Amino acid sequence: EYVQVQSISRSYGAVVALTSVSLSVRRNELLALVGPSGAGKSTLLRILAGVDKQDSGVIRVRSDLGVEAPSERHPAVLVFQDYLLFPHMTVFENVAFGLRARRRHLGLSRREITRRVRDCLRQLQIAEKAGAWPAHLSGGQQQRVALARALVLEPSLLLLDEPFANLDRPLKRETARFLRELQQRLQVTTVVVSHDIEAVLEIADRVGVMSGGQLLQIDSPLTVRQYPASADVADLIGTGLKEVVR
Ligand code: ADP
Repeated sequence: EYVQVQSISRSYGAVVALTSVSLSVRRNELLALVGPSGAGKSTLLRILAGVDKQDSGVIRVRSDLGVEAPSERHPAVLVFQDYLLFPHMTVFENVAFGLRARRRHLGLSRREITRRVRDCLRQLQIAEKAGAWPAHLSGGQQQRVALARALVLEPSLLLLDEPFANLDRPLKRETARFLRELQQRLQVTTVVVSHDIEAVLEIADRVGVMSGGQLLQIDSPLTVRQYPASADVADLIGTGLKEVVR
């Protein structure tokens, strides 16, 4: 278990976002967090990213598994739903931006940055778009550029908040499958928050079902479907399945 989250709670004033949530993220897995709006999914993701802090509870990272703990060199990278590409920069420049900003710190030469950006664009199958402006890309291509911007930093933990939200339905599934294939190829430990239950059940190693700031169940997609831990879980997962049929 790479990341261990133990009894994390977080409130914003009177609003309780997380109540004593415990879970682990295994090395190289794709963990999906699903649940209704307001369940606390994004809050948990932000805490994992280190951009928000829990009121109580601890997060432990095991760096003895051949994966480093998040650091400057291999950060935990959070990609938002509303990933904003810099409109005045080409795809290449957008992806290079994070590396250039950390160039001194990482001790990277310009040539190494170019190589890493090119490699990354190739992995994401958008190499031919390197010179294009974001406005000239399709939604799916923009999504890949956003992913490239994160992956080029060689994250120790990739955190994706609603990565399929801006895509239309057929593209959702295709993008989800692409993400899964990429995640396995690159072996990057990934947590995906999504309300597209059907899309994530198909690609996740494990699914955490959240509601009202609590983690109701965390299991394989098959187990969550066949053996929901409670009526609430069955309802939440069931809603997603009905959407497939519709
Ligand atoms: P989800 O991602 O599952 O939709 P969130 O983690 O965004 O849920 O939100 C959980 C609860 O915490 C919600 O009631 C939300 O309104 C509240 N919340 C989240 N972030 C903030 C914030 N920065 N300030 C105040 N309330 C917040």
